[in-house]
Amino acid sequence: MSACVYCGFCSNFGCEHFAKASPQVCVLPVALELPSFELRTGAHVLRVELDADRKHARGVSYVDAAGTECFQPGELVVLCTFGINNVRLLLLSGIGQPYDPATGEGVVGRNYTHQTTSGVGLFFDESVHLNPFMGAGAAAVTMDDFCADNFDHGPLGFVGGGYIQVQVVSGAPISYHPVPSGTPAWGAAWKEAVRRYYNHSASITITGAAQPWRGAYLSLDPTYRDAWGLPLLRITYDFPDNDIRMSRFLTARADEIGRAMRGVIRSEPGPRKKPFTATAYQSTHLTGGAAMGDDPRSSVVNRYGQCWDVPNVFVTGAALFPQNSCYNPTGTVGATAYWIADHIERDYMRQPGPLAGKGRAGADLRRPAAAPGRRGLPRLGRRRPGRHADPGARRGDPGGRAGRAAGGPGRSFGEPAAFTGGSARSPGLAGACGGGVRHRAAARAAA
Ligand SMILES: Cc1cc2nc3c(=O)[nH]c(=O)nc-3n(C[C@H](O)[C@H](O)[C@H](O)COP(=O)(O)OP(=O)(O)OC[C@H]3O[C@@H](n4cnc5c(N)ncnc54)[C@H](O)[C@@H]3O)c2cc1C
Ligand code: SF4
Repeated sequence: MSACVYCGFCSNFGCEHFAKASPQVCVLPVALELPSFELRTGAHVLRVELDADRKHARGVSYVDAAGTECFQPGELVVLCTFGINNVRLLLLSGIGQPYDPATGEGVVGRNYTHQTTSGVGLFFDESVHLNPFMGAGAAAVTMDDFCADNFDHGPLGFVGGGYIQVQVVSGAPISYHPVPSGTPAWGAAWKEAVRRYYNHSASITITGAAQPWRGAYLSLDPTYRDAWGLPLLRITYDFPDNDIRMSRFLTARADEIGRAMRGVIRSEPGPRKKPFTATAYQSTHLTGGAAMGDDPRSSVVNRYGQCWDVPNVFVTGAALFPQNSCYNPTGTVGATAYWIADHIERDYMRQPGPLAGKGRAGADLRRPAAAPGRRGLPRLGRRRPGRHADPGARRGDPGGRAGRAAGGPGRSFGEPAAFTGGSARSPGLAGACGGGVRHRAAARAAA
């Protein structure tokens, strides 16, 4: 990767300088080197297909780039299509019991949380030049003193907290034009205020936790559908009073900091208020809906991201968070993805089945031993010779049906794992449509 040149257009844009780490820059080029990895672009997964007993996934149905609906068999399905979309796929596939806020029963869609953000607008005298067009996402000053239990919030009437941050990252033309409150919304006076304050304003942001509560959840929309006729995801959410109190307290602290800054002539705190609205940007950090836990009555997946109800389906992403802790999610999303991938490879693929509790040979999977010599990326796409116990798979049966019909112990890996995040891992055996030349040749061979 290149070194960052602090161009200032980091957030919301790709990096033309090749300096920003993201999966398509850091992970996909490595995976594409693997002979067993296949990337099918333009594939849109519709649902996970289950066996008749609804306890085992057969693969996924998807629409390929040409608009043809296809079935991709898979012994293992990993839902990795962004947190809340994973929840939608679970609901569309009938995996797990949907949450019902009236009875409190069900788990899929439960524990949905947003992030309780607020800000303080700072306006400086004209001797302070802030150059908001220069910056980078990582060039921020952050204080953690009011996060979680870093302070005593017992007497303050709320739980949780947040971090207070100054970050110069978004001085993009047209979209960035802070003006003091009371400025006309258009016309000459507005233009004059934009000119006056563009280089002499900043903001302090407060990124706060969000606690789950009974009335906040994800469900399938009864009215609106997508282009394939499937229900969209519906978000039912408003801020709990706890989070409003927390935001008021933290925003007041940030306002104190702002007023103490050199050159500030005006500090405008904006604590978060009810009701939630999707028309004003607050955060792109949507969390929960497929909570990770140790009890199937209150969680969708176990600590390895494995669905309690359909053990050959794993879920990644911020949907696993039981609540929003305040920190931005992606570090934890990445860490849990590696954790889940590691356990799929080390434990599930050796002995498919539920991973919670006691594992293979009585090993306590709650305290997994460190694997010696294992560093870096999980070995995506690597196949171990001699592990294909399914006779159907060895004969090239893409559905692996012969093995299952023979009632062999455990699942085999004659079928590829389907990664619904756009990268289906296909070691040469494939479904009926989509894919490239190698894919079609393999289908012919299988037939
Ligand atoms: C503008 C913006 C700014 C953000 N800034 C920050 C930040 O500063 N810090 C932070 O921690 N987080 C940030 N986030 C959140 C961060 O992007 C997510 O937490 C992270 O990308 C989640 O990773 P993921 O792998 O779960 O999903 P994604 O990165 O969204 O990957 C999901 C993939 O699945 C594909 N997909 C979706 N549906 C289907 C389907 N049906 N079939 C097949 N493929 C599908 C998508 O095309 C995508 O490639 C930001 C998000 C946005 C939008
Ligand atoms: S500021 Fe962001 S977009 Fe600009 S060079 Fe650095 S990483 Fe790339």
